[in-house]
This record gives sequence, C-alpha cells and structure tokens, in this order.
Amino acid sequence: MGQRIGIFGGTFDPIHVGHLVAAVNARHSLGLDRVIMMVANVPWQKVGSRAVTAAGDRLSLVEAAVGGVPGLEAGRQEIDRGGESYTADTLEEMRAAHPDAELFVIVGWDVAAELATWERIDDVKALATLVIVNRPGAGRPRGLDGSGWRVEEVSVPNLEISSTDLRDRAVDGRPLDYLVPEAAVAFIAARGLYAVSG
Ligand code: ATP
Ligand code: MG
Repeated sequence: MGQRIGIFGGTFDPIHVGHLVAAVNARHSLGLDRVIMMVANVPWQKVGSRAVTAAGDRLSLVEAAVGGVPGLEAGRQEIDRGGESYTADTLEEMRAAHPDAELFVIVGWDVAAELATWERIDDVKALATLVIVNRPGAGRPRGLDGSGWRVEEVSVPNLEISSTDLRDRAVDGRPLDYLVPEAAVAFIAARGLYAVSG
C-alpha cells in the first residue's frame, strides 16, 4: 500500500501554531503518514498587495518550526520549481514521484472558500482529496457537496492566529512567543525579519 501524504500549502510568512496544530490534527484524524508544509515560492494571490518575505527565509522558518515533530516536514518543491506556485503542478510532481501514494490537500476554511480561483482546479480535484479544517474568522464553506471533490472535514482547536497579525505584532515590538515556535522566533530575530532586530 502506498503512503497517505498530506500537503499543507501556505505562504508561512511567518509559520505559526495555528498552521502546526491544524497539520498534526489532520495527520492524526486521517492517519496520514506525512504532512508536508509546502512553502509557496511566489504566492501569486498575495503578490502586489504586500511585500512577501524571501522564500528561502520562509522555508527556514518552517524547517525550524517543524523541528522533530513526527510526520511533519517542510516542503521545498515549489521553491525548487521556481515561478508562481500552483498546487496542480505540485500534485502532478508528487504523483509522478509517488505513484502509489494517496494525496490529500489540507486547507483552512478561508482558503476552502476560494478554491474556484485556483489554477487548473479540475486537476487538483482529480489528484487529491480535499481536507478542510476550521479556522476562526471564516465561515464553513458551502457548495462543496456535489462539486466533484472528495472531501474530508477535520475539526481542530480554534486558534485565532494569522501571519498578518504576527507581522503587525513584530512591527509594534509585541511578542511572538508561544504563537510561533521558539526556534522560528529565534530565526526571525537573528535575521531581523519583520523589522525585529536580533
Ligand atoms: P496571512 O495572514 O499572511 O494570509 P495566514 O495566517 O492566513 O497568513 P497562510 O500561509 O495564508 O497563513 O495559510 C496557509 C494555510 O493555513 C491556509 O490553508 C489557511 O487557511 C491555514 N491556516 C492559517 N492559519 C490558520 C489557523 N489559525 N487555523 C487553521 N488554519 C489556518
Ligand atoms: Mg492566509
């Protein structure tokens, strides 16, 4: 039997415990062998609206954050591929590399509501099961029944945390501790990301 692989995509600017708690709970609930925190190279839906931190730094933050947590990994495939990051391309590469694997794409409620805007969404539908996790501030998406998706819903602790709020905190000098894993906080300080000096 092939592996059950979850792909949790994000900009992770920066990664926070909301992402990590959702990932480990999705892994547990669905019996996934691995969950890959896939760092978007160019998050095309965010470009233009704000400055996005260099992809290599966002990857380092994810690597620091997952540390030794079993089954969680940082994914660099979209960075290595370069250009804009489309989940359809990522899944096609995963399918080619792991023909026997069962693939799961994990998204929060806010992203689940925007799936119609994704590139080549029919390819994503064909290649993966959609896993939806609750997120405060967004409603449970409707309209997924009968839309051709294989869907799993996973209930996770509601953590009202966003990278946007964390960037604001950093600029204001408020602490990121316990909202972001310690090793990632240390990396932010050392690199002076988000205007925090080390
Ligand atoms: P930003 O504020 O910059 O958009 P974010 O906190 O939304 O950052 P993203 O990298 O945009 O983080 O999100 C990646 C994925 O993680 C998305 O599927 C999103 O729904 C999910 N996610 C983010 N924060 C949470 C949270 N607190 N609880 C559950 N899911 C979350
Ligand atoms: Mg977001």
